[in-house]
Amino acid sequence: MEKLIEVRDLKKYFKTPHGMLHAVDGVSFSIEKGHTLGVVGESGCGKSTLGRLIIRLLDATDGTILFNGEDITRIKQVKKLRRQMQIIFQDPYASLNPRMSVRETIAEPLTIHGVCRSHKEVEDRVAQLMETVGLAERFADSYPHELDGGRRQRIGIARALALEPEFIVCDEPVSALDVSIQAQILNLMQDLQEQKGYTYMFITHDLSVVKHISNDIMVMYLGMVVEKSETDELFENTLHPYTKALLAAIPEPEIRRDRKRTLLTGEITSPVDPAPGCRFAARCPYAKEQCWKETPALEEMLPKHFVACHFAREINGIMKETENEEKPAI
Ligand code: SF4
Repeated sequence: MEKLIEVRDLKKYFKTPHGMLHAVDGVSFSIEKGHTLGVVGESGCGKSTLGRLIIRLLDATDGTILFNGEDITRIKQVKKLRRQMQIIFQDPYASLNPRMSVRETIAEPLTIHGVCRSHKEVEDRVAQLMETVGLAERFADSYPHELDGGRRQRIGIARALALEPEFIVCDEPVSALDVSIQAQILNLMQDLQEQKGYTYMFITHDLSVVKHISNDIMVMYLGMVVEKSETDELFENTLHPYTKALLAAIPEPEIRRDRKRTLLTGEITSPVDPAPGCRFAARCPYAKEQCWKETPALEEMLPKHFVACHFAREINGIMKETENEEKPAI
């Protein structure tokens, strides 16, 4: 499979009165064409900043972003990139202009980028996009405040699709919606991907949301990747203590008394000028002395399953390859 996105050692630091905030700190990954990467973590873990860096809404402090093999990290013509990369925002109400009708909102990117030759062509394209995202024609002259959350998010999706991008960053696109509407929007996004072959980076704080939509999942904690693997593998063999806690937080329809929960206690480490060591140490039930001194590297502990934890093998009973090999007879 061909890679559409390749990110190497990406960093984004922000200057604050108290020091340098490490929002994204050495993140590397790739996304294959037509695939979805789910990026999961709590608020403030850097996942939204990462999405904005990749589509060049923010400039990186260091590292490399390749799009279709081309280095776009410091490219000046970002307008050209907008046609190929788009974003769907979390809160459709906040991201839509309240003074623009549905028709005007969807038409805007078409007009800015001059992709239609006539007013009629713009009108036809808007009607087609509304149909694609399941918005009835009668809403064309409505304003955002007249619509419910699900319909507003459909406008956000239609707007993102207007320029027929290859890559779409979906930044918590369903977290502001009711559960029943969440399912509708997720199904719509999946159908669109099957029909048009879009590549998604799906950002969320909720692992259950990305379970059915993602090919791969990357878990972030305070600017760093702590676990990364194919989706089924991550749910079957969860290795990092933080991912285990995220999984334990997913509500279940039935109460099971035997269900083991990892409840996190302790303070969240500050991402401002962080000290060496594991950033999860203050909340980790397995933390030992080494965790406070050395930052764990992201290592392949099972095939195509990467984890950043000094003791993940010990915690999960995985032997190192060298320990697995037969000892030579003396
Ligand atoms: Fe916990 Fe240590 Fe692993 Fe960090 S490195 S997750 S503190 S056991």
